[in-house]
Amino acid sequence: MSDLPGSSAATISSYRLDSTVNEELMQGERSKVPPPRGGVAELLPEPVFPQKPELLNAPDEAFMPKNGKRHWTSPQIYHAMQGWAFPYFRSRLLRGEFHPIIAYLFNEWKCNLDCNYCWAYDNRVRGMTEDIAKRSIDWLHSTTCRVLALMGGEVLLRPNFAHKIIYYATKKGFWVYLPTNGRLMKPDVIDRVADAGVKTVNLAVDAWDIKPGLPKAMVPIRQYFNYLVHKQYKYGYSVFLNINICRNNLKDVRMLTELAHDNGIATDYHICESPMMEHDDFKHFEDNPVFIRPEDHAAIGELIDWLIQKQNAGWQMVNSVQRLAEMKKFMKKELDCWECRAGLNSLIIRTDGTLAPCFPMYSAHHDWGTIEAPKMKPDQLAAMKKNCEANCFSTLNHILAFCYNDARVIRWLFKEALHGFQGVHGNME
Ligand code: SF4
Ligand code: SF4
Repeated sequence: MSDLPGSSAATISSYRLDSTVNEELMQGERSKVPPPRGGVAELLPEPVFPQKPELLNAPDEAFMPKNGKRHWTSPQIYHAMQGWAFPYFRSRLLRGEFHPIIAYLFNEWKCNLDCNYCWAYDNRVRGMTEDIAKRSIDWLHSTTCRVLALMGGEVLLRPNFAHKIIYYATKKGFWVYLPTNGRLMKPDVIDRVADAGVKTVNLAVDAWDIKPGLPKAMVPIRQYFNYLVHKQYKYGYSVFLNINICRNNLKDVRMLTELAHDNGIATDYHICESPMMEHDDFKHFEDNPVFIRPEDHAAIGELIDWLIQKQNAGWQMVNSVQRLAEMKKFMKKELDCWECRAGLNSLIIRTDGTLAPCFPMYSAHHDWGTIEAPKMKPDQLAAMKKNCEANCFSTLNHILAFCYNDARVIRWLFKEALHGFQGVHGNME
């Protein structure tokens, strides 16, 4: 078990999950994805580009928000409802418990950077094939799921492949989410993924400029950031900055938050977590400059209070005030259980097409099935979560758990309807 967060050591010994549960999850053998029908690998269609030449050539200024307020069109609002609201209600009405709403498709497990907290890449592992990507989307389409998040590693390592996935998934009616460290997000790539229909770009940046252990920085990608923010209005996607609070970036977090606010985009915060479970290839156990130690708690607490103050003043943030405040509890290992829905309403698809309930469980060998043949068992998931929930700060799964409540959803939809669905900031508090 790791003793971080909450240790005075600069070194972590291993992982946060209870060692018995970890051992159980590392046993067994994952199923293999059945061969394609007829033995012939499937291919994704070649995207048409540009699909909307009139948009590509239109001046950006014509689409900029008037009076600083962004306007969402009716088709954009309907598409968001198709992605999130309708699958939620279907998942409530259908029998059984396995009704995914969001799926993370790991199109890559390689990365061009090396953030010192990250165990989520291995440059020896081959990326997803077109066959697995297409069959994953087709299989998800046969379920309730209509939100597809590409995931890695770095998802844009093969920009043409990412473009194909976004194009195909959008044509099938998915609401597509693209996280990236931004280093490969050149203007031509932005135009292509935007034209294909991407709905949100999650730009992960932890530092203003590159610093020890934190290569995801704004300075090296500033021109791409400006281009991305500028084009969002005419293409109809949104952008937010995804920032991981570590022991060595507290000033950077404030600077990035101010930059996002000045540019009219939202922010999403994570608190630096050591690996949940065993990952053979994680190599930063010793002398890690990013992991939080007890002597950092006071300064991080002040930063969290500053973020809460900014959110109360109207700055756009994905995390609710309550959620930000819970980061302090998490640092002190005082998190309560929170009814995680992973494996039932969210899942991950690894590069080889096998399934797992969530990102922290990527390296588990437990057999949760594959695309076209899932094996998510509510009893097994519930037993496992008795141990991992208290150690887990998964933002998406916390939001899903909080929102998986009819009264909250109806109250939120009613409030948004009163505002013509023009004020959706992704936080249901
Ligand atoms: S950019 Fe993302 S995937 Fe790559 S090392 Fe950093 S956190 Fe991990
Ligand atoms: S609490 Fe949920 S998201 Fe976190 S590790 Fe456990 S199953 Fe995964």
